[in-house]
Amino acid sequence: MILQLSFLLIGLSANLGQEWTYDVRFTLNSRNQRPELTGSVVDNKVYVFEELHIHWSDNNLEGSEHSINDYFSSAEIHFVHFNQRYDSLSKARDQRDGLVVLTVLVQLSRVDNKAIEPLIRVLPQVSRYNSSAIVKNALILEKLLPINKEIFFTYKGSLTTPPCSETVKFIIYADPIRISPFQLSQFRRLHERPLNGRSLKIFSNTRDIHRKNSRIVEVSDVRFGDTSSGSDVDDFGGNNDIDY
Ligand SMILES: [Zn+2]
Repeated sequence: MILQLSFLLIGLSANLGQEWTYDVRFTLNSRNQRPELTGSVVDNKVYVFEELHIHWSDNNLEGSEHSINDYFSSAEIHFVHFNQRYDSLSKARDQRDGLVVLTVLVQLSRVDNKAIEPLIRVLPQVSRYNSSAIVKNALILEKLLPINKEIFFTYKGSLTTPPCSETVKFIIYADPIRISPFQLSQFRRLHERPLNGRSLKIFSNTRDIHRKNSRIVEVSDVRFGDTSSGSDVDDFGGNNDIDY
């Protein structure tokens, strides 16, 4: 399977507060040319970048929604794309080939990750529910991807809202990126929607792991899957839902 990306230098806006989940979403500023994703992994259809958001938890060891061989990462970045032929995310979300979520697992290291710093810096401006701000420095999206882009897993997942059809294809890089514990901790300073005048911090926005069931998880590199008779693939733990 081949995955091709046209990642660009882009300007983003940060928005905190969603109807179903709590996370900070980074959407493109209007004048941006939209990055695209294509290749045999998506049957050579073209998918257009819509937004990116991040999942984390109160536990540095288990902030990702996906696990590989029962191993969780500290956080997980979702780059959400919609099929170009449907014109928009809202039209694409009910289509069988509507959405692709490119997923990057995040692990911790002692040094700050400079590439993600423009996103971290804007967080204090969106710490309250229903707030937004412009990300001051343009971001090179490609720098948020792992160095090794050759090995990735794919599977079809579903939306959590009706019609719950399997319209999301997840593409998950095996290789993680790294950020510092301090950078990760900044996401936990964001706040949920106030309830009775109180607004709690978002300590976690991950979902519980789902059984793989009969879902087929494919791996990009055959040699990788063969190393343990496919058990790398079998042990892949996926969250088959996504938060729209
Ligand atoms: Zn997500």
